Amino acid sequence: MNKAYLALGTNIDPRQSYLSRAMELLENEKITILKKSSIYETPPVGYTDQADFLNMVLEVQTVLSSEGLLNTCQTIEKELGRERLIRFGPRTIDLDILVYNDENKKTERLTIPHPRMHERGFVLVPLHEIAPNLKLPSLNKTTDELLQELPAKEKKDITIWNKSEQGKELRRFEN
Ligand code: ATP
Ligand code: MG
Ligand code: MG
Repeated sequence: MNKAYLALGTNIDPRQSYLSRAMELLENEKITILKKSSIYETPPVGYTDQADFLNMVLEVQTVLSSEGLLNTCQTIEKELGRERLIRFGPRTIDLDILVYNDENKKTERLTIPHPRMHERGFVLVPLHEIAPNLKLPSLNKTTDELLQELPAKEKKDITIWNKSEQGKELRRFEN
């Protein structure tokens, strides 16, 4: 059985529903979700003129190859109405493979580990929550080491998102 880590991201409403739907569609006879990070709210990176994201990371077990897993991720993105209009632009759901076993590879379709994961707080913070000691094959460093090396500005605005807590806070504020 193979183990992989997936990053989910969305910044089109209803954001939490897109995360839930993606997880429902991922759990099929070939993929089992073993761990889920919390949901984090994060500011956009790169193309910043867009809404904030919800991000999370999953640990999954699968009989699929990494290409097979990418096919499934892309089918789910399509099913959830993902359109690619602007690179790094708004999306209903983005499903990226971060790590797949100890694969270290680069083909036209697939680079594993994900080539930009080590510079992204919105990936490293949730990944660290569920897999602090995971060693990245390409960099030969753990998630914990990568997160410590990440500049503070890349992680300072990443907050755990808890809708019910937010609701409570709003009601307290209004009272
Ligand atoms: P980024 O890859 O920087 O997070 P993105 O997720 O917005 O950007 P997409 O439009 O979702 O980019 O994907 C572009 C292409 O990246 C896909 O067609 C896919 O073939 C390729 N790709 C390469 N490596 C991976 C990977 N590890 N996980 C998912 N897609 C990958
Ligand atoms: Mg991505
Ligand atoms: Mg992607």
